[in-house]
Amino acid sequence: MATATKTFKNFIGGEWVDAASGETFETTSPANGDVLGVFPRSDVEDVDRAVEAAKAAYEDWRLVPAPHRGEILFRFGRLLADHKDELAELMAREMGKVLPEAAGDVQEAIDMSFYMGGEGRRLFGHTTPSELRDKFNMSVRQPIGVIGVITPWNFPIAIPSWKIAPALVCGNTIVFKPATDTPLLGERFVELLVEAGVPAGVINIVHGGGGAVGDRLVRHPDVPVITLTGSRETGIEVMRNAAENLKHIHLELGGKNAIIVLDDADLDLAVEGIVWSAFGTSGQRCTAASRVIVQQGVYDELQGRLVGAAEQLRLGPGWEQGVDVGPVINKRALEKIHSYTEIGKDEGAKLLTGGEVAGGDGLGDGNFYRPTIFGDVDPEMRVAQEEIFGPTTALIPVRDVDEAVRVSNGIEYGLSSSIFTRDVNTAFRAMRDLEAGITYINAGTIGAEVHLPFGGTKNTGNGHREAGQAALDVFTEWKSIYVDYSGKLQKAQIDTAE
Ligand code: NAD
Repeated sequence: MATATKTFKNFIGGEWVDAASGETFETTSPANGDVLGVFPRSDVEDVDRAVEAAKAAYEDWRLVPAPHRGEILFRFGRLLADHKDELAELMAREMGKVLPEAAGDVQEAIDMSFYMGGEGRRLFGHTTPSELRDKFNMSVRQPIGVIGVITPWNFPIAIPSWKIAPALVCGNTIVFKPATDTPLLGERFVELLVEAGVPAGVINIVHGGGGAVGDRLVRHPDVPVITLTGSRETGIEVMRNAAENLKHIHLELGGKNAIIVLDDADLDLAVEGIVWSAFGTSGQRCTAASRVIVQQGVYDELQGRLVGAAEQLRLGPGWEQGVDVGPVINKRALEKIHSYTEIGKDEGAKLLTGGEVAGGDGLGDGNFYRPTIFGDVDPEMRVAQEEIFGPTTALIPVRDVDEAVRVSNGIEYGLSSSIFTRDVNTAFRAMRDLEAGITYINAGTIGAEVHLPFGGTKNTGNGHREAGQAALDVFTEWKSIYVDYSGKLQKAQIDTAE
């Protein structure tokens, strides 16, 4: 590949620069270990320079008319579309997902850029009547300043777009720290933003680890907002470390999502939805279905069909045609996923298929894990409670819909949920009662559209939402404005207007 062994830089204040320390790290392909690039291993000094540049650029960017900021996002969306195939191929190599899913990841960023580009001509506030005569009331959204954007590796183009597109259109400037497993895609994202016309200092990228670069952003007094997608553990640490400066913290964290299949479900559809949700992206989606809650009447049939379908899936490098399941991100993830297979077996869950590292057959030294299904799982077992983030799912038998909803809700997370049923009354009850930020009826747990809010309840986050109009609340502050044109001092709540 043309990118092999190429050395990349940080982008700070409009310049491509090395880390102050000169230290570097490599990004490698999870499918075969190929080195794809060398990146600066930055630390506090680099972050501080980037924050300074972003802070200086904010003074003008906040005054650029929002429709113009939106036009830059339209150009960015078009550039992403022009480079969609190249980015998808790069994603298959650097992150590992299969080409159709990688193209979907890029498409999500295209959609988000156009959606948020349109916000340049909306960003609606309110006008409301006043309780007093000759007085005008309105509320407006205002930008906040420098936003620290910290992202995971599993949606290396989509997730940065969920954060950076709304932050920019609202008039903020950015210091972006992508995951160390996918710096090359972060780099390409920023190169295209620059090509689209984002001015110097408005977008900055600083490569490096969470403990050095991420933590400095979280603690930096001139970064009033941190938006982070990652694990629950990281979220807790970030919140604690940001407390000193009372920052706005936007967290999108883990999940342990369940699909409910009732006796009256369309089983063909359910099998397809479960396979796609459990094994798509090798189970490395925050919305992956790692639990399947099945009513007794269809349990045996569904189990048999799922095992058959899982065993048909073809493993291989994401860039090869006809591959269903790519590698998992790194050796650490492979070990973690396998440790949960051992945990499940020790707990007494029945291993129905998979449960092993896959090698041979052109898989070479890649991080491949066989799609794994546990049967007869008790909802309290660790494999049914903890996020595994791999191609492993647990079948949990239940008697009826009440028990199904109770089991679905009986976890610490609340991201996505799903139910397969043909009964409209049951579907509406599930929409009301499933404790999650997302509920699907007759579809799996994965796949979101950018104009609806995205995020979860309970330990999946801290009450904010990504995407849709809800994202604007993360990247703006409300200001209420009162214009009194009566020519006299009118006192709210004290004077009365007749
Ligand atoms: P992670 O928590 O290990 O890392 C996420 C990011 O945080 C990385 O850029 C990392 O370098 C940085 N980081 C780590 N420690 C930090 C610290 N102390 N201070 C500041 N930054 C720090 O997560 P990951 O392994 O990259 O991603 C997988 C996790 O992300 C899973 O739990 C998954 O469910 C979650 N996720 C959630 C959503 C969602 O929208 N809810 C979407 C995708 C992924």
